[in-house]
Amino acid sequence: MAAQKILKRLFGTNGVRGVAGADLTPELVFTIGKALGQMRPGCIAVGRDTRTSGETLGKALRAGLLATGCDVHDCGILPTPALQYLVRDGYAGGAMITASHNPPEYNGVKIIEPDGTEMGDEETVQLEELIFGPAIPVTAWDRAGQETPVPHHLDRYIEGILSHFPGSLGKGMTVVVDPGSGPACITTPKILEKLGCRVLTVNGVMDGTFPGRLPEPSVDGLKNLADLVLSSGASFGIAHDGDADRAVFVDEKGTFIEENEEFAIVVQHICRQKTGVIVTPVSSGQVVEETARREGSTVRYTPVGSIYVARTMRELMEQGVPVIFGGEGNGGLIFPDHQFCRDGGMTAAMMVSIIAGSGKKLSELARQLPRRHIIKDKFMAKNSAEILAALPLHFPGRTLDRTDGVKIYTSNAWALVRASGTEPIIRIIVDAGSPAEGRALYADLKSRITGMMG
Ligand code: MG
Repeated sequence: MAAQKILKRLFGTNGVRGVAGADLTPELVFTIGKALGQMRPGCIAVGRDTRTSGETLGKALRAGLLATGCDVHDCGILPTPALQYLVRDGYAGGAMITASHNPPEYNGVKIIEPDGTEMGDEETVQLEELIFGPAIPVTAWDRAGQETPVPHHLDRYIEGILSHFPGSLGKGMTVVVDPGSGPACITTPKILEKLGCRVLTVNGVMDGTFPGRLPEPSVDGLKNLADLVLSSGASFGIAHDGDADRAVFVDEKGTFIEENEEFAIVVQHICRQKTGVIVTPVSSGQVVEETARREGSTVRYTPVGSIYVARTMRELMEQGVPVIFGGEGNGGLIFPDHQFCRDGGMTAAMMVSIIAGSGKKLSELARQLPRRHIIKDKFMAKNSAEILAALPLHFPGRTLDRTDGVKIYTSNAWALVRASGTEPIIRIIVDAGSPAEGRALYADLKSRITGMMG
């Protein structure tokens, strides 16, 4: 039932991305603004992350919208999930200037629908037709749109998250937050303080040059976070990517929690409150499904991309399926009681709730999860589509899943093989119950794939 992927010209799974000024020019962003204005007439909410190119590109986008007669509410700098939350309040749509976790020279545009979800494939193809079609006319002088700055609307997002938790939840707890100089500087510390936590920050001042670490929260980049967690005796540390739709954690010992395990820890917590369905892409670690099953819940798989997870969650719920949670194995978690998109601020608050409620340390919660062993690799292959089509023939009798690429199940392991849509690359993930099983499946797969390379 999961949505099928549609190839697009400009937009990827997470909007348009490129090096600002080179691939992503103000002229292109102005055209995107005009196209969106024509497709979603009304009032559009616009926001951006902290990137240095954001001011120029944000103005270009807003100019395009205004030129087609749309009104614009400029939300200023804020996390992507904050804009998604606000858009649901009667806007015709939203647009976020962000390149998420990409390096500082990148930027991008993500389009948000009135229900707060990212624009789906079919609508994005329509938008691209407008962008690449005949010039979009500029409206007459007496019908130009009006722009209103609304930075104060951000408080509604913070209040929205707080409404899910009792006020003094984090009393006595110290948490270290690393917003990575991104927009979560003005949200996550405030959210956790309002929950009663003592909050310390690393990279806590907004800065589009990202002086402390790159927008991708990698283990190497989080050393300062880990050090401060240890020296302050904090319960845990949390870090966000460049637009704070994702959150990753270090435990009280400063050890990074692998993102699939983070997902599983939250799964366990939610499944102990209610039983139902967890929605996640086929690429997510088996630890998620095993944890859900251990707690009496089940998992539904989607193609890779948070938009497919969010859309599937909503569709299943409309059919009466009790969807209780969703997310990806990269720290992007979706809480359907809150909103249908990944939300790093909500994930931060949820972790306070988990630690406060369980009486356990984060390292203990991680240690009690089912043990899985993951191998990831990629191969350059010009004939990647051909290889993927032929691969199932090499595994007769095995259970196969074709939701996205080819997923091959053996007794206590699986391998997911996917071809990149934009580069001649094949990506492999092997997830196994033991290191030996993982190595055996990986070696078998590797020899078959290299044997088919053109
Ligand atoms: Mg992001």
